[in-house]
Amino acid sequence: MKSKFLLKKLLLNILLKFGILDVLHYKNRHKVCILMLHGVMAPNEKSCWEPLRQQLCPEELKRTLTILSQHYQFISIEQCVDILDGKSPPINNAILITFDDGYRNNIDYALPICESFSIKPVLFVATNHVNSGLPFWFDRLDYALQQNMGEVLSLSYQDSMYHFDARTREDLTISYKKFRDDCKQRFNDDIKLNNLFNGLSEILEARSGLKLSDISDKDDWSAIVSWAILKEAVSKGRIDIASHTEDHLRLDCLNEDDISSQLKQSKICIENELAVKCHYFCYPNGNYNGLAIKLVKEASYRAAFSTDVGLCESKDDLMMLKRFNFPANKTTSELLYLLNTK
Ligand SMILES: [Zn+2]
Repeated sequence: MKSKFLLKKLLLNILLKFGILDVLHYKNRHKVCILMLHGVMAPNEKSCWEPLRQQLCPEELKRTLTILSQHYQFISIEQCVDILDGKSPPINNAILITFDDGYRNNIDYALPICESFSIKPVLFVATNHVNSGLPFWFDRLDYALQQNMGEVLSLSYQDSMYHFDARTREDLTISYKKFRDDCKQRFNDDIKLNNLFNGLSEILEARSGLKLSDISDKDDWSAIVSWAILKEAVSKGRIDIASHTEDHLRLDCLNEDDISSQLKQSKICIENELAVKCHYFCYPNGNYNGLAIKLVKEASYRAAFSTDVGLCESKDDLMMLKRFNFPANKTTSELLYLLNTK
């Protein structure tokens, strides 16, 4: 396994050395690369817990952006959509940085780094979470599980049993990921799925007497950004804000009225709170279908971003824009290869 990995690294370095990756990169120069990030944080002296899901640390963001800045030109979301819409000529090797979900750490830790590269990123926010300040259900259950470590937890909720191996952090990381993946497969109604996450969290919170919402305001991992912080950053032209629904629900797991309401109300909320136009949308969990696309258009969004992987070009459907997961921990050759071969 290790020798296969080293061989791949060596091959990529040869491709880089002989300029083959540069040729590939040049060939794609009129396409647009869009990167997706979530929370950006590293454990610090203030943190009293750490999420099980891998987080991007600020140092790694800076290192990767340094490499990208040598090969790409950073653009805003408006420039991106104008290019893809044929309204503006292409910019060579354009790249857009997007943050999903609306974590406060995007402003506190990631934005100063972005600004040092003159990047104006877009934040896709779930407006009801910004309104309430309540953490996401996946962070809530993560925290609640970690307050009950040391045993295999068997929880009864609505006539079903759920088991989490919380003997060690490693066990729980695997167990919680499997639970989340299974839930995404099993549920086609996201309101029921949210209820399950919140129901299990309540049981665990009652056991430990500890809940994330009590600390999330001072918790840099899970805190949701406020309208006041967003308003200040928007007014200074540091970021753009766009919709990620009201409640971070997968659109293909909702009925037509609920999809429409999530799309329209989140747009109205952003426009009222920030006094800006909200033209862009990002599908929670990357899920969409024909009905969702139709309703995104009807709600007057100009473009919608998915988690389908690849470069975008001007003939693409603006309602299904592709993105790459932020390519952390990569060498220059790995990065250029990854972002030019999809
Ligand atoms: Zn999301």
